[in-house]
Amino acid sequence: EPVIVAQDVEKWYDNGFHVLKGVSLTVNRGEVVVIMGPSGSGKSTFIRTFNALEPYQKGRIEIDGILISHDLKDIEKVRKEVGMVFQQFNLFPHLTVLQNVTLAPIWVRRWPKRKANEVAMQLLERVGIAEQAKKFPGQLSGGQQQRVAIARSLAMQPKAMLFDEPTSALDPEMVREVLDVMRELAGEGMTMVCVTHEVGFAREVADRVVLMADGMLVEEGTPDAFFNNP
Ligand code: ADP
Ligand code: ADP
Repeated sequence: EPVIVAQDVEKWYDNGFHVLKGVSLTVNRGEVVVIMGPSGSGKSTFIRTFNALEPYQKGRIEIDGILISHDLKDIEKVRKEVGMVFQQFNLFPHLTVLQNVTLAPIWVRRWPKRKANEVAMQLLERVGIAEQAKKFPGQLSGGQQQRVAIARSLAMQPKAMLFDEPTSALDPEMVREVLDVMRELAGEGMTMVCVTHEVGFAREVADRVVLMADGMLVEEGTPDAFFNNP
């Protein structure tokens, strides 16, 4: 059952740069797809279109049956369905860890504060950050902040999660703890699309690896086929 359907997506900038040249990808429920490829090839731009963070000019994108129009009208609906984790965490620095996680459930989902707090604490427990709930993001390590960002996304109970180089800004010793949380999520059946250079993660967790180059998907396969072919 498809959750993310992107068909012949094209995007270009005002200066004429054609960043996506007709990209198609279908991600089924529970599937984990890793997108790899050289820097500047359009990977980040592509997954940002799934969350209506980037407008596109041609093609069609549907998230769990919701059409994302080219001009990004009605984006609120789709933003609720798709969680996104960024390279730079993007936490609110003036809010505590707990407040970061409860913000959207309270203001977008209209959950009562008490319910939002309970759910948030469960999620922080799950990503191993519960003891830090009252701290501010700046008091946490990068790996801890990224796990808060994952908890924040999960609080909206998304249908799918997008990860844009989630470990690229981390010191090496913190990469593992974030990848472990992502691996657990995958194991629980979360539908995930990850842009990452972490070959180990791709090999062990991905159902499918796709290679993007110059605005196109140029190769796709199971991790075994992908990494073991000469
Ligand atoms: P990747 O995630 O594979 O590194 P990106 O999706 O970030 O690639 O690629 C974006 C490409 O589009 C880069 O080559 C970047 O220079 C270009 N780009 C981004 N924004 C603009 C813009 N406003 N105008 C023109 N080119 C842009
Ligand atoms: P990152 O690689 O961190 O994802 P980018 O370098 O692709 O980010 O883009 C950072 C910002 O600069 C974006 O707002 C993007 O639109 C803008 N940008 C990137 N490349 C260009 C470009 N060639 N011309 C104009 N704006 C660009």
